[in-house]
Amino acid sequence: MLSLIPPMTQLNTPYPSTAYLTGFLRLRGVDAVQEDIALGLVLELFSHTGLQAIRECIDELPASERAPVVTGFCDHFDRYLATVTPAVAFLQGRDPSIGHRICGRDFLPEGPRFDVLDNFIDSDGGDPLAWAFGTLGVQDRARHLATLYLNDLADVLREAVDPRFEFVRYAESLAHSQASFDPLAEALAAPQTLVDRILESLTLEAVDRNKPNIVLLSVPFPGSVYAAFRMAQAIKANHPRIVTVLGGGWVNTELRELKEPRVFDYFDFVSLDDGERPLLALFEHLDGHGQDLNLVRTFTRVDGDVRYCNSNQPDVPFAEVGTPTWDGLPLDRYLSVLDMLNPMHRLWSDGRWNKLTVAHGCYWKKCSFCDVGLDYIGRYDGAPAEVLADRIEAVIEETGQSGFHFVDEAAPPKALKALAEELQRRNRAISWWGNIRFEKSFTPELCNQLADSGCIAISGGLEVASDRLLKLMKKGVSVAQVARVTRAFSEAGILVHAYLMYGFPTETAQDTVDALEYVRQLFAEGCIQSGFFHRFTCTVHSPVGLNPAEYGITLKQLPPITFATNDVDFIDPTGTDHDSLGTALDKALYNFMHGVGLDEDVRTWFDQRVPKTRVGRHFIARALDAGP
Ligand code: SF4
Repeated sequence: MLSLIPPMTQLNTPYPSTAYLTGFLRLRGVDAVQEDIALGLVLELFSHTGLQAIRECIDELPASERAPVVTGFCDHFDRYLATVTPAVAFLQGRDPSIGHRICGRDFLPEGPRFDVLDNFIDSDGGDPLAWAFGTLGVQDRARHLATLYLNDLADVLREAVDPRFEFVRYAESLAHSQASFDPLAEALAAPQTLVDRILESLTLEAVDRNKPNIVLLSVPFPGSVYAAFRMAQAIKANHPRIVTVLGGGWVNTELRELKEPRVFDYFDFVSLDDGERPLLALFEHLDGHGQDLNLVRTFTRVDGDVRYCNSNQPDVPFAEVGTPTWDGLPLDRYLSVLDMLNPMHRLWSDGRWNKLTVAHGCYWKKCSFCDVGLDYIGRYDGAPAEVLADRIEAVIEETGQSGFHFVDEAAPPKALKALAEELQRRNRAISWWGNIRFEKSFTPELCNQLADSGCIAISGGLEVASDRLLKLMKKGVSVAQVARVTRAFSEAGILVHAYLMYGFPTETAQDTVDALEYVRQLFAEGCIQSGFFHRFTCTVHSPVGLNPAEYGITLKQLPPITFATNDVDFIDPTGTDHDSLGTALDKALYNFMHGVGLDEDVRTWFDQRVPKTRVGRHFIARALDAGP
């Protein structure tokens, strides 16, 4: 069986789903292999031959239709051709010495993306990159410049070849909450773009190399769905006997109400939730040993209609899923890009992290905005610390790298403590980061122990920093408690990132101003160093979406669903204009992360009149003094 990662996901590290499945299937004696087509596509596009192919597409465009970034690319085409291979090799960490030339600023051609550097020139006319990166060294500066260069090239591609292309998502709107398959079907019937053609040839090459009888396409996000269908289209056209299977995070969330038979022109089977058990059942079925359609959580087409088959066999326990393997994925070819982002986002895009989970699902599973009813959140299942430490050691042995990203939605404090003890007992040095809930069992002692075990950063939800709304959303934390927990992490030397939210049902402008005041104080008191404000979206699977009246909102009617469903619009009679408030929140947070504006009245960030905060100016300081 061949598992493929379709474009786009992440550039710096492989998405872990195929690594998990491949490790598990090999444990069960299945001849399983994997390839990352997302990385392959990027490396092909941003190569000498890729740029020449882009140039040929541009040459077919009338001059009047060329955007300035495209004209700039053509004007400096030879320079782009000369620099693309060294720039990509540098971002892959394979050619660090070229960093000196990149930093000189006369090696890479500089398109519109470099304009951002002008925004950082301070009033003394100082070095803009010094403002942005402080005293960081040549390698970081060069990585940022090479990232801007790559972003310029992506803009050229988008303007001249395929407007749907982005580095982390591709043609996302065709799949995200798309009730009807029609837009995707139309796109799949359209003539191929250069991106489609490369995608097709990479897919067929992978099939020729591995000669699978089953190909699994794992789609974590809506931004990888179109490519997965294009890849399946190529496989079905050239190898109609190969069985194609679709699974992954997007399927688990958005395809639960699938009724569209045309999906099965591309895929023979679509499986929901964890893939281990459904795949074992599918193999039995295909071998002819299983009873007719004795499948697990799997859609297929029977006599032209979609049928959902679920024989309710139990899932493989988390302790028995085995160790993921990255065998087959070219770990030295991933690109460590460095955008001008907050420190936590930097961890996301920079460096290669082995992705592991400490447990399956979330031990809390109560937050009302979260998909708590879905398996990946709602089915909590842990494993002994010895098993986790064995997995960690096996992964280090295989990859040679000791950095881990624990990708749990909320890693349980008890399991983290046990794992820290086990790593300390084995005297095993690693570094790790991940998501948690800011709950009070993270005492200063535990935070120090986690730091000793290699924890370098954590993120957690403060959501709408408002005790009224935290209660309504059943987050199970208060602002004062978050202050104490985050301060304990920070004092242990662990970077803290807060997920923040605005636009929750019944949230008023006053709530938003107050939340920003709490956030200002948390930065000022050294509790958090990084944060991001997300706009609340109501999903059909969350408690808010399932019981809107409890949250004071009315859902708008959804169209008939035959394909994907996730987000649902709603009417909140509170009537707050969250769009305009959101801009101010982003601006404020960006400045707070750079230590700017921490003494100012938070009203200064808003363009419109907003109420004065009701939060005491020293609320967080007092909460910290008060202790647990
Ligand atoms: S938001 Fe996080 S903590 Fe809350 S239920 Fe979901 S995964 Fe668990």
